[in-house]
Amino acid sequence: MPDVRLAPINIRRLCYVFASIFFIEAAFLIIVERERLMADAHELVWVSFMLHAILALYALLHIIWLNILKRKSNDASPLAQRISPYATFTTMMVVATISVFDQVTHGHITLFSVFLLAFGLLVFIRPWWNLFVYGVPFGVFMLGVIMFQDNTDIQITHFINGTVVFVGVLFASTVFYRRTLLTTIQSERLQNANEKLTHLATIDALTELPNRRLFERHMIHELSIAKRYDTRASLMLIDIDDFKTVNDTYGHHVGDVLLTKIGQLLTENVRASDMVSRWGGEEFMILLSHTETDGANILAERLREAIASSPFEIDNKTLHVTISIGISPLFFEADDAFTISYQTVDKALYDAKNAGKNCVKTLKKPTLH
Ligand code: GH3
Ligand code: MG
Ligand code: MG
Repeated sequence: MPDVRLAPINIRRLCYVFASIFFIEAAFLIIVERERLMADAHELVWVSFMLHAILALYALLHIIWLNILKRKSNDASPLAQRISPYATFTTMMVVATISVFDQVTHGHITLFSVFLLAFGLLVFIRPWWNLFVYGVPFGVFMLGVIMFQDNTDIQITHFINGTVVFVGVLFASTVFYRRTLLTTIQSERLQNANEKLTHLATIDALTELPNRRLFERHMIHELSIAKRYDTRASLMLIDIDDFKTVNDTYGHHVGDVLLTKIGQLLTENVRASDMVSRWGGEEFMILLSHTETDGANILAERLREAIASSPFEIDNKTLHVTISIGISPLFFEADDAFTISYQTVDKALYDAKNAGKNCVKTLKKPTLH
């Protein structure tokens, strides 16, 4: 059986191998067999022609079959995983039979050697299975040589040449399999580690929300879109009121759970195209795409109202909390759009705090502290 990880490579390579077989066989039939047919209409030449024509057709059917499978299911489907050893085995058996005939009529074992090399070096089959997949057809071929080749010298030559190719291919196939599998596993591990690192670097561990770094990356993207298409976007900075007292009264754990719950509530109440991030401590920043400050204000009031009116149940305690919200547009036309937008929304939040908390304040013009 091939390893699951190598299945997609195998399927792709099988397609190439069968395509090559088809073209080589077609060329062989047109050039070599046609000349022989015209020169010598012996019955055996006809049989040889027919056998090679069948092989070409066999390869063509495999290409069609593999492509249908590829389209129907993804490459890692259980069926696709199982295909390569069987496709290789059946093909080698067909070729072994045709090669027995070939070595009698043409006196050589090229067909068998070429197929052994092509499959053995290109298709990954797990060691020991490869012994079966290539060994049985090789045995059949050798048996055919003994049964149908009268010339002892040719028999011995075929036996020596065939064994050399067979052993060489088996060895190379095992080495390639192990090396490729190892490389694949290593690159998979590296990819997983990279994904984990990216997650750690961009997602807040407590709330599982994007952190400031990811938010800023998203903001750069949004700024470029706003500039290019002249669209509007707003920033909303949310701060939990008197959060320190929550920690002091109920403990840090309750504070942590509250932060997570508020993060979830915010995410659930904005559009999927908006980005909610944990800006720091007990502050959340939301980037509202395609939204003017008036629209942002309606949403902010809804969020503020939702939190103020529904107490949170944490560890059998009922917590009443409120939030203050600052809003500003994204000043995408400004040279320092980043800093100006942040400072303005921060000032708007500051105004909301100064106005007695549990309220929303909007600044439409760039304002510095
Ligand atoms: P204000 O209404 O003016 O915003 O008052 P506040 O108490 O919310 O603000 P302040 O900035 O004084 O305090 C914020 C508190 O948030 C202090 C800090 O211990 C707490 N905090 C920051 N990050 C976390 C966290 O991850 N978990 C918990 N439990 N508390 C946190
Ligand atoms: Mg704060
Ligand atoms: Mg606060």
